[in-house]
Amino acid sequence: MVQFDNTEKAYGLKSNSDLYKSYLIYRLIANKYLVAFSTQVAWLILKLRLPFIFVFKKTIYKQFCAGEQQEDSLKIVNLLASQRVKSYMHFAAEAEWTEEGMEDHLQKSLDTLSFSKGNTDVPFTVFKPTGLGSLALFKMKTASIALSEEEEQAWERMLKRIERFCEKAIELNVKVLIDAEETWIQGAIDEVAERLMTTYNKKTPYIFTTLQMYRKDRMEYLKSLYEKAEQGNFYLGVKLVRGAYIEKENDRAEAKGYPSPLCESKAKTDEEFSQALHFILPRVDRCHLFLGSHNEANVLQVVDYMKNNTISPSDQRIWFSQLYGMADHITFNLADVGYQVIKYVPYGPVRKVIPYLIRRADENTSVSGQTPRELDLLRKELKRRSDSLCASKNS
Ligand SMILES: Cc1cc2nc3c(=O)[nH]c(=O)nc-3n(C[C@H](O)[C@H](O)[C@H](O)COP(=O)(O)OP(=O)(O)OC[C@H]3O[C@@H](n4cnc5c(N)ncnc54)[C@H](O)[C@@H]3O)c2cc1C
Repeated sequence: MVQFDNTEKAYGLKSNSDLYKSYLIYRLIANKYLVAFSTQVAWLILKLRLPFIFVFKKTIYKQFCAGEQQEDSLKIVNLLASQRVKSYMHFAAEAEWTEEGMEDHLQKSLDTLSFSKGNTDVPFTVFKPTGLGSLALFKMKTASIALSEEEEQAWERMLKRIERFCEKAIELNVKVLIDAEETWIQGAIDEVAERLMTTYNKKTPYIFTTLQMYRKDRMEYLKSLYEKAEQGNFYLGVKLVRGAYIEKENDRAEAKGYPSPLCESKAKTDEEFSQALHFILPRVDRCHLFLGSHNEANVLQVVDYMKNNTISPSDQRIWFSQLYGMADHITFNLADVGYQVIKYVPYGPVRKVIPYLIRRADENTSVSGQTPRELDLLRKELKRRSDSLCASKNS
């Protein structure tokens, strides 16, 4: 039986001072007014290049990012590996706007990949499509707007970058996750992902697409994708997530006057997520699962399925993944009993990763977010350590 409440295991890698800092950060981001204010400040810092970066660096950045350089991530990777937790590293800059920026992003991603060489602790890699190609082109493609000759050439260059990255990963026996983004660009990302899976997933699923189950249409898409895989005789890799752009999606739908593409409530998203698991798990031979979620009920749903169907915890077809700085109680307790657990370890210069950090803060501030649970567990561990210190002094 997996127990998520074992805080000694969950926070075994944290010193007392790290633990206390994490507690303070979660206390801060639990305050939605403070987060709203800090978000505005963060955008201003980005736009006006203001010198307040150190405030972020010491607080939210330290909680959710491994560091500025790949070497910083590598230290974290080794620490996690000491507890049987694997990692996937990511240069977490968001969309690039120039071809030069995209080439640079590709180079950083290839450099990151080189750490996987001969290192079984880093079995996956990831890319964010708008880091390697133009956001405007993804948007046009998704809206079925014809590209000019010049745009077509830029699109082809982006496909080449992606293929170069995937081929290098496959050469190193590393699997590739493709992040999911906003609905108005995701259509084109899906097309690219399908093309890659058709090409590279003939023998095993090297390429994993991401499905955001807060979208109303993803269950149908999952079924159609599975049919295509059966007919085309290739494997599917599915990273299942709920979705990180809820406010942006709903605000845009309202501003432009179209119905929101997202489920109308958290309960409905939960239902869709659970249904996707019901669909994938009995088909896991062809459709490998990468569960990107901090939701304990879903993790247990998969664990129970595996037990009831005598699937070994170390089965390579099913992975559990959490973000660095979050849900350590799931990560370390699952890994302790032998499940395949992998942490997303982002790194990059503070300025470049601000949009990623804002998403993490927003996610944790929302009423349905995980902050109360994180705070409870951190409090419990702080108390446990203080009690055991008192007990050892008294004995
Ligand atoms: C390893 C990993 C990789 C990820 N990769 C991506 C990615 O590529 N793309 C991406 O978009 N996100 C990604 N995410 C983030 C993910 O989509 C979620 O935002 C985050 O994990 C929180 O969802 P949960 O399942 O962990 O937890 P929960 O706390 O159970 O769910 C919170 C989520 O529920 C949904 N939700 C909340 N309120 C409502 C509402 N009122 N109506 C409808 N839905 C609601 C939102 O999606 C919210 O994020 C990733 C997460 C992980 C752990």
